[in-house]
Amino acid sequence: MNDRASQGRSIFERMGVRPLINACGVYTDLGGSIVSPTVWAAMQEVNGSFVSMVALLEQTGRILADLVGAEDARVTPGASAAIALGTAACLTGMNGDAWESLPDTTGMRNEFLIQRGHRFKYDRCARLAGAKLVEVGEESGTTTAQIAAAITPRTAMILFPAHLEGRPGTVALATVAEIGHDHGVPTLVDAAYQSDPPELMLRFTAEGADLVVFSAKYYRGPNAGGFICGRADLIRAVAGVDFTRYESGLHRTFGRAFKLDRQIVVAVVVALQEWFTMDHKARWAGYRTKVDGLIERLAGVPGISAAPMAFTLDERLVPTPVNCAAIRFHPGSGHTPDSVCRALAEGSPSVAATVLDGALIVAMDTIQDGEDVVVAGCLRGVLGADR
Ligand SMILES: *Cc1c(COP(=O)(O)O)cnc(C)c1O
Repeated sequence: MNDRASQGRSIFERMGVRPLINACGVYTDLGGSIVSPTVWAAMQEVNGSFVSMVALLEQTGRILADLVGAEDARVTPGASAAIALGTAACLTGMNGDAWESLPDTTGMRNEFLIQRGHRFKYDRCARLAGAKLVEVGEESGTTTAQIAAAITPRTAMILFPAHLEGRPGTVALATVAEIGHDHGVPTLVDAAYQSDPPELMLRFTAEGADLVVFSAKYYRGPNAGGFICGRADLIRAVAGVDFTRYESGLHRTFGRAFKLDRQIVVAVVVALQEWFTMDHKARWAGYRTKVDGLIERLAGVPGISAAPMAFTLDERLVPTPVNCAAIRFHPGSGHTPDSVCRALAEGSPSVAATVLDGALIVAMDTIQDGEDVVVAGCLRGVLGADR
C-alpha cells in the first residue's frame, strides 16, 4: 500500500482490521477496557527503563495487598492465569521439583473441590495446572456435610466463584472456608469482577478466603492484567511457580508461559490505586447521562421504545443502576434486535452492541465521551429515521 492510501487511517485499519465502538461493556474479546491517561503515562514512563522483574513483582504485590487488605499479593497476566497459578501454588507449596513437574501431578495432592451449582466457565483454568476437578453435591444443591465428607488426603483446594455465591442450594463462602480450614485445605475465590465498589474487594479474605483473584479489565486496568492476593505462604508459592527466575533460578517452572511486561505490572497497580480514589457515583451518573441522551436522540423514531436499564457483569437485565439503553422494536416495525445489532456492527463506524431478553442493549461502560452521540446517529441511520 502506498503512503497516500495509508494516510488518515488508523493503525487498526493499516493492519487490516476495523476499529469498533464498544457498546457492549468489558469483554476480553473486545479488548477489555481503555486505561486512563494516568495509567497510560505510567506505562510510558516504565517503558523508558529496565527494572528487576523479581523486585518489581515483590514491591507491587505489597502495594496491592495493602489496598485490598490481604497479607500479600502478586500481579498475574489476568485472573485466569491467577487461578492457574494459585491452583499450582496449592498443589506444590514451596516444592521446587513440583513447580517443575506440573501439570504432571504424580505424588501430589492434586484434586480441587467445587460445588455442583458453582460450575463456571473459568473452573477450567484450575485444571490447567494439572489439578483434577471434583464436583460436590447434586443439581438440587450441595450441603455443608457433603463438602466436609468430600475432603480427602488428595484434596489440595476448594474453588469458589464469588459471583455465584447465594445461588440456591449452595453453601456460603464463610462456611466453605471454615470447613477447608478445619481440614487444612485452602479456598481460592474467583472474584474477577467483584471490584465495584472497590471496598467489595476486601470482603473475601475477611470472610476466610485463602486466595482471591481479581481481573484488572474490570477496574480499567489492562486486558492482560490481574492479581492474586491472600495468605503470605501461598503467595510465596505463587512467586515460586510463576514466570520469574526461570533462567536465573533452579527450576523450569510451570508458570513461565504466564509472562508479564513491566508496563502491565505497573498498570495493574496504578489502575487499582486510581480505582480506589475515583468518584464512582460520578462514574455511574456519567453512564446515566449518556443513556438519557441516547434515548432523547431516538425520540420520535417510529416503531421503537427505549428504556434506561442496567446490564450487569453477569449479563442480566435489571432496573438499576442504569448503564444501558434497552431498545425494543414493535411488531411491524420491520426491525428485530438481532437485525439492528448486525446492521450496527456492519455499519461505518462499526458499533458493537448486544441482544438480551428481546431487546437491543447499548451499554455505556466502555463508551468514550462523544461516542454516545455517534452511536445515536448510527442507530437513527439503521432505523431509517433520517430518510
Ligand atoms: C473475565 C473473568 C475471568 C478472567 O479474567 P482475565 O483477567 O480476563 O483472565 C475470570 N473469572 C470471571 C468471573 C471473569 O468474568
